[in-house]
Amino acid sequence: MLSPIKKIRLIFLLIIFLPTAIFSVYEIGSFRNNEKMIEEIYNNQLDAILYSVNQNSNDVVSSWASKMDVMCNTPQIKDNEIVDKITGETAGIQALFQYDENLQALYEENIKESQKELHKLVTKAIKDSTKTIKKLKRYLEGDYRKIEPFHLGSSDVQLLVFLVSAKGKTIVNALVLNSLNFIKEVLDPKIQEIAQDKFYIGAFLNNKENIVYNSDKQKLDINYQYSKPFWFLDNYYLGIESKDKTIHELVQSRSMKNLYIILIIDFVLLIGAWMIYRNMKKQNELAQLKSDFISSVSHEIRTPLALISMYIETLELGRVKKEEKKQEYYSIIYQETQRLSSLVNKILNFSQIDNNKKKFSFSNSNLNNIVKDVVKAYKFKLDSKNFKLEQAYSEELPEINADSEAIAEVIVNLIDNSIKYSSDRKFVSIKTGLDENKVFVEVEDHGIGISEYDQKKIFEKFYRVTEKNLAHKAKGSGLGLSIVKHVMDKHKGKIEVKSKIGEGSTFRLIFPIIRN
Ligand code: ADP
Repeated sequence: MLSPIKKIRLIFLLIIFLPTAIFSVYEIGSFRNNEKMIEEIYNNQLDAILYSVNQNSNDVVSSWASKMDVMCNTPQIKDNEIVDKITGETAGIQALFQYDENLQALYEENIKESQKELHKLVTKAIKDSTKTIKKLKRYLEGDYRKIEPFHLGSSDVQLLVFLVSAKGKTIVNALVLNSLNFIKEVLDPKIQEIAQDKFYIGAFLNNKENIVYNSDKQKLDINYQYSKPFWFLDNYYLGIESKDKTIHELVQSRSMKNLYIILIIDFVLLIGAWMIYRNMKKQNELAQLKSDFISSVSHEIRTPLALISMYIETLELGRVKKEEKKQEYYSIIYQETQRLSSLVNKILNFSQIDNNKKKFSFSNSNLNNIVKDVVKAYKFKLDSKNFKLEQAYSEELPEINADSEAIAEVIVNLIDNSIKYSSDRKFVSIKTGLDENKVFVEVEDHGIGISEYDQKKIFEKFYRVTEKNLAHKAKGSGLGLSIVKHVMDKHKGKIEVKSKIGEGSTFRLIFPIIRN
């Protein structure tokens, strides 16, 4: 069978700790997934932005191609003038060369000396790619003019090829872009429009550190986390970065915030559970103490009752002849009734205190007088039990405001305990005094002593020390010191205990003195 406290622990484990742990692990896992999703969605957005930049470059080149198409089919414009018209007017174009269907160069005579080298290179690239040209032709026949990037082996220039049909013939156009100019002059306005003040959009060559363009002209040292290749420009990449916190930072700070919230919730839950557990543990201990109290009090009542009835019966039957013996029996009966009535008083006192019904009648009192009266009444008991009694009274003690009867009961309680919890060394000392403007009375014994742990507990109701043999054997209710504590509280006083196991204990009651 599990003890009640173990049961409570198990219940707490099952209904608080396990669900809290499972909930926390699940929540942490699920917000990690959510954050992955957010990052994915955000990246898709960045993707869409970069797509629109690429789309814009496609639109620009397509518009040039359309312009050429129109010019080629306008009778007033001579064929050999078209190239000059396009290249002269448009930024970003380094050169434009034209070829017929059989890839023979057209208007070679118009090519400037400075572009001859480039022309050779372009012509070679085109002749090496007849398959691609054929594919572009098929597209054109299907009414789709595709712009095809070709490799020229340089990052400075980029070759784009597209076909137009003019007056029944197909013309192959080789457009050579100046890559940097194309980005900085042609694409820049659109990039500025997209970036606004929310993003940095930049262009870099292969390596992210080699940034050649940025929407914010002042900043060229951006570490782009997200990038995509330019559709048309070989080896060039587009990068994008948020101007505020990066999404990574945002996601990270959100994760941290969520983590803190979960930790705080867990903490509050655990503190709450711990407080409930402590309370239940206390209640359980109290229930245990009460049950011990009932059994020990029943015992306390039964023993004197049995003794009393036994002696009365003996006396009644006239079996005791000697007067001396009779006196002894009367005195035992008297002692036992005293014991009973003191126990009943204690219980009544306690019940009044517990229900907050105990009334005190305070008056100016002299502590020495109260103590001396108690000692006078108790001397006989101490002597009969062979206790050595020492008394020391401080002369002219200031008066205190006290209920003399209640204080006398309290002192009786302390003397009673000194007698109960002393074995071989039967000694009680009672002392009054003045210390730091406070009046005190001290009851000292050389009895079994109280451990430091128990010193903190003995003033709780029903608490009794059970592990020591004598403490266990000595009869009691566990109420005495809790009553003492309560009475001292009502007198705005204090009770202090000094004790060492095996050496003895000193209880000191401290009272405030009356000020004028
Ligand atoms: P009771 O004596 O009826 O058990 P008390 O409230 O008077 O109840 O005391 C509580 C406990 O404190 C006792 O059970 C005992 O273990 C311990 N105690 C009190 N006074 C002394 C003392 N003078 N010496 C040793 N132990 C003491």
